[in-house]
Amino acid sequence: MVDKDKIKRATELFLEGIGEDPKREGLADTPDRVARMCQEIFQGMDGSPAEHLSRVFTADGAEIVVEKDIEFYSMCEHHLLPFFGKVHIAYIPDGKVVGISKLARVTDIFARQAQIQERMTREIADAIMEHLSPKGVLVLSEASHMCMMMRGVRKDESGLVSLSSRGLFETDDILKDRALALIDFRS
Ligand SMILES: [Zn+2]
Repeated sequence: MVDKDKIKRATELFLEGIGEDPKREGLADTPDRVARMCQEIFQGMDGSPAEHLSRVFTADGAEIVVEKDIEFYSMCEHHLLPFFGKVHIAYIPDGKVVGISKLARVTDIFARQAQIQERMTREIADAIMEHLSPKGVLVLSEASHMCMMMRGVRKDESGLVSLSSRGLFETDDILKDRALALIDFRS
């Protein structure tokens, strides 16, 4: 749960720290605005992937299910600046599939926290593995990081790609290649 009071106090202190006057007109409501915003952008802290992955449909014989281009917005835990982009998910059902919106909800849970891209990608894969029990899952994320873009460092690397594979995608390179081809990812 986000503690709005603490965020308000911290924002006021932060504004003082950068040499601002927190009482000036434009900033007067900023601590409150930031606190309310944090409730939204960090709401993944209270999310439950199990809740979204428990409503399943039976699907016999389904091979690889792919959900592409799931938009996400997250906060880099090293700099508290946004990183954002797309997540692509492929899984091989073991008789169970989930509705189209559920993988996006699960992505949201892990994105809306203080995060790093690699862990977010891994956590999405692990949650699907744990709660949906597919034969394999592959999660690929591509993201732009404001902490790199705004500071002008490593601009060429500001778009990062992270991949996590579990189950059959870990052991079978042909299946893995097929999933990546279905995702149609081009770096
Ligand atoms: Zn960063």
